[in-house]
Amino acid sequence: MLVAYEEFVRRADAVRARIATACAAAGRDPREVELLAVTKTHPAAAAGYAARYGLRAVGENRVQEAVEKRARTTAAVAWELIGHLQSNKARIAARHFDRVQSVDGEKLLDHLDRAAAELGRTLPVLLQINAGHDPAKFGADLSDAPRLLDAALAKKNLRVDGLMTIAPLGATPAATAAHATRTFVRLRALRDELALRGGAPLRELSMGMTGDLEVAVAAGSTLVRVGTALFGTRDTPP
Ligand SMILES: *Cc1c(COP(=O)(O)O)cnc(C)c1O
Repeated sequence: MLVAYEEFVRRADAVRARIATACAAAGRDPREVELLAVTKTHPAAAAGYAARYGLRAVGENRVQEAVEKRARTTAAVAWELIGHLQSNKARIAARHFDRVQSVDGEKLLDHLDRAAAELGRTLPVLLQINAGHDPAKFGADLSDAPRLLDAALAKKNLRVDGLMTIAPLGATPAATAAHATRTFVRLRALRDELALRGGAPLRELSMGMTGDLEVAVAAGSTLVRVGTALFGTRDTPP
């Protein structure tokens, strides 16, 4: 069940306070860090909450779920795909999402570029990098990132906004925190290195979730993707 809007407001205020505290510790301006509401498994009304609270966008990890949800709400939010995307769903994703954060291969780039061309639009994307070397996670290898970026920049109908990653889980909370720090610092370093080569400023660093947003902010995150802290635990597995 979706929490009441008043409860959502309390939770969102608390998440913003966490972001502000992490920014203060890192000497950053909290306005540099956007809160993306992850609405997966929650009803369409969750997107309405995000809009009413003033958030720009929501994140969904499944194409079909998001398409159905989006049809059921007039919430004034952007929809971002944060879950794995198969090439055969590129066309529907390009039609229904405002940005795709999970671009991790050249074949997918080809399909998305062609789909965006057919729609007569420019599709913003992030490149998902498996910066934690996690065999359980999608995302391009760090070493493949320069080639993937060059391929993405060559696509006329795509706009590369930056990079995205998901940190691997550890066996203990301490191990998870250590993995997260390493992963996010690596993604930041990769972004700085790629941005220096020119071609795109790669402004966006999408990293950090409910459990690790502080370390993500410390490492330079510009977009934290938060579900649980806003809407509670998900009873359906994502
Ligand atoms: C579900 C999900 C999130 C949100 O995770 P929480 O721990 O619930 O905040 C963030 N990013 C991705 C890619 C997700 O799939």
